[in-house]
Amino acid sequence: MNSVATPAGALSAIPSGDGRWRRGGARLKFFYGPMDCGKSTLALQMDHNHARRGRHGLLLTRHDRSGAPRITSRIGLGREAIEITDATDLRDLVRDQWAGGQRVDYLICDEVQFYTVAQVEQLAGLVDSSDVDVYAFGLATDFRSVLFPAAQRLFELADDVQRLQVEVLCWCGREGQLNARIAHGQLVREGAQVVVGDTVSDDVRYQVLCRRHYQAGDLGPAVPPAGQLELA
Ligand SMILES: [Zn+2]
Repeated sequence: MNSVATPAGALSAIPSGDGRWRRGGARLKFFYGPMDCGKSTLALQMDHNHARRGRHGLLLTRHDRSGAPRITSRIGLGREAIEITDATDLRDLVRDQWAGGQRVDYLICDEVQFYTVAQVEQLAGLVDSSDVDVYAFGLATDFRSVLFPAAQRLFELADDVQRLQVEVLCWCGREGQLNARIAHGQLVREGAQVVVGDTVSDDVRYQVLCRRHYQAGDLGPAVPPAGQLELA
């Protein structure tokens, strides 16, 4: 496990927990899987489970599909969340909560692939220095099948990494593994790492494919319009 450098004393003002949870037991957990595998649903369930036990958490996201500061899932759940930017210092975010008298026992970090590497290191620092549990949810790889930098850092630093087991299937029935970017009906392999699009627009959309069909660029039979998908 690598150590993470944090500015000396940066977290010293943050008290640790309320004593009901073991000190020093906080963990950094990374849950990953392809699009549509239920990451945001699990993120919301995780928050619900901890809140029921009287714990206080913050929900963070970046570029949620709703285009708003919310964590939303494809099965219709949603909750308000804090939208972070490249400039957000997650330690300051937690420290501000403490300054306002709010406890922070855990963070739910959705769409974590869009966080910066520095922010992943800040999360590790919060776990180690402030005993805040961090549950991070996101994609591992981009449309080129290359790791997102934040995901790579999470693989390096997380206490626990779990690939989500909700199967997303390629059109052929094999397990979907890779997130293909499709522009004007063609699989594209080059371009900006982050193009946040409507996943059902005609210009740029994303589709989960098995490795074989990702490599072949074979998108399968025509995809029905979104309305039909939702009714299916
Ligand atoms: Zn396939």
